[in-house]
Amino acid sequence: MRYAIISDIHSNLEALEAVLEDAQRQNIDSFICLGDIVGYGANPNECIQQVQQLTEQVVVGNHDHAAVGLTDISYFNVHAKRAVEWTAKVLSPENSDYLSKLPFTIQAGNLFFVHATPADPPAWNYLMTPRMALVEFEVFEGLCCFIGHSHQPIIFCQKSGSHPRLVEAMVCSQDEKYIVNVGSVGQPRDGDPRCCYAIFDNHECHLQLRRVNYDVQAAQRKILQAGLPPVLAIRLAHGE
Ligand code: ZN
Repeated sequence: MRYAIISDIHSNLEALEAVLEDAQRQNIDSFICLGDIVGYGANPNECIQQVQQLTEQVVVGNHDHAAVGLTDISYFNVHAKRAVEWTAKVLSPENSDYLSKLPFTIQAGNLFFVHATPADPPAWNYLMTPRMALVEFEVFEGLCCFIGHSHQPIIFCQKSGSHPRLVEAMVCSQDEKYIVNVGSVGQPRDGDPRCCYAIFDNHECHLQLRRVNYDVQAAQRKILQAGLPPVLAIRLAHGE
C-alpha cells in the first residue's frame, strides 16, 4: 500500500492543489490527512472540501479545534489568534460541524496517525528532540507513528532497548520503530518555502519526504485581500 500523508494545510489552497497534482503521478492507494486543515490562510472552506473529497482518514489539529471553539487559544500568538477568529467567522456551518467531529487518532494496520503527539493528543505538545520522543515511542502500537504540528519534517527512530535518535531514512528492521513528522503542506517552517508531504510504501518500507513548488504569490495575495495579518503572507515566501 502506498500512502500519501499530508498535514498542516492551513487554508492554503494553492499549496494543497500543487501537492495533490504531484501525488496524482505517484500511484497513491490511500491519502491520510494529519490535521490543521485551516488557520492562517484564506481558503478554509475550499481546503476542507478538497480534503473531504480526497479521504475519510483525517485526524484533527489544534487550529481545526480552535476554529470551532474546542480548544483554548490563550497560548496562540496574536497573529494566530486573529486567523482563528477570521476562520471561525467564514467557516460554513457544515464545515464547522465536520471539523468538530474529526478524531484525534487513527490506527491503520501497523501505522498510527496523530496531529501532535501520541502520548497526549489533545495537549498539542511539540515533539522536537530525540529525548522528548522517548515517552512517545512507548505509547503507540506498530511500526510507525506519523505526526505533523511543528511543520518541520523529521524522522525519529528507536531500536528496542536504546534511546531514540534522528535518522535520514527508514529501514524498518524488526526491532525498530519510527516517528515521522511529514512537514507542512501550506506553511513550511524549515526555511524551504516549498510544500512538504510524505509518501510511505509499507511493503517496501520506503519513505519519501517530497517538496513541491506552488504559487506562493497567489496565496499571499489572498491573505492580504482577506484582511489577515500581513506577516502570515510574508512568512510563506521564506518558509518560516
Ligand atoms: Zn499547523
